[in-house]
Amino acid sequence: MRNAPKLMRAMMLETAGRPVEPRCLHTPRPGPGQALIRVHACGVCRTDLHICDGELTHPRLPLILGHEIAGTIVEVGEDASAFQVGDRVGAPWLGWTCGECRYCRRGQENLCEHARFTGYTLDGGYAEYAVADQRYCFRLPDHYEFAEAAPLLCAGLIGYRSYRLAGEEVERLGIYGFGAAGHIVAQVAMHQGRQVYAFTRPGDLETQAFARRLGAVWAGDSTVRPPVQLDAALIFAPVGSLVPAALAAIRPAGVVVCGGIHMSDIPAFPYSLLWEERIVRSVANLTRQDGEELLAIAAAAGVRPTVERFRLEQANEALARLRRGEISGAAVLTT
Ligand SMILES: [Zn+2]
Ligand SMILES: [Zn+2]
Repeated sequence: MRNAPKLMRAMMLETAGRPVEPRCLHTPRPGPGQALIRVHACGVCRTDLHICDGELTHPRLPLILGHEIAGTIVEVGEDASAFQVGDRVGAPWLGWTCGECRYCRRGQENLCEHARFTGYTLDGGYAEYAVADQRYCFRLPDHYEFAEAAPLLCAGLIGYRSYRLAGEEVERLGIYGFGAAGHIVAQVAMHQGRQVYAFTRPGDLETQAFARRLGAVWAGDSTVRPPVQLDAALIFAPVGSLVPAALAAIRPAGVVVCGGIHMSDIPAFPYSLLWEERIVRSVANLTRQDGEELLAIAAAAGVRPTVERFRLEQANEALARLRRGEISGAAVLTT
């Protein structure tokens, strides 16, 4: 059954370092195991900026960016039975894994040696339609509209995985970079009884006020030590100097989790900051289990992403505003 028009609008990246450009393309057809999604909303993620800037070096070009796809299934391919036409789904960054490599066999599909990623090595959601392997799609909780659901699919997921890897014994949680991921995971953490300390770019009083409105017990500049010692810190800003800053803010045996896919170099720092069994680790990609867990927790905790909406054609403006730190919450393209 064909429910989609022949042609669709999309914003394409032809070359790194150039703006994305409007294109009229053939609407893709779902292959075996795939679904065709009418994209209603697609989040704009910092990773998109890293791809545009050539900091991530293996994109498929030309490329439709976008890996926070929220939409409705309009057509299913052969052997795609998990979803039906009309289902509300989300398609995340993890678009395909091999199921056979040592990581897949160990339940670490986020590290699959042959993984394909939406909006990076597969076309993504800066478009009216997108195809996705249905096995990697999530059913969206009913009470989220598409634009609200979109940021959950990367910012929320990566934020949640970072939060989970900070450990159970966290009462005081630092969050460096209070944007899309930070403001979502803060809501999960507070719902679970934790205190949130929010760190922003120096002087960004607006974001600090936003964090306090959401319930952070403290908000301040990332260059400032918090008033208490933290149990763990999550870093979502791509700024390497935050690693020693966060280490200096956490207690012995505390964990610093770097949630971004790219970061500027980490400056040298004295061993004493790491001493006493402090841990620094990164988070890469997501597993499908992370996604199922986060969507269930977000719905139960009443997490409400704050979103700023842009039309598909305004993708470059959304990217520019994100780069300048001018987005409160998450930027989302709607079609
Ligand atoms: Zn694999
Ligand atoms: Zn992302």
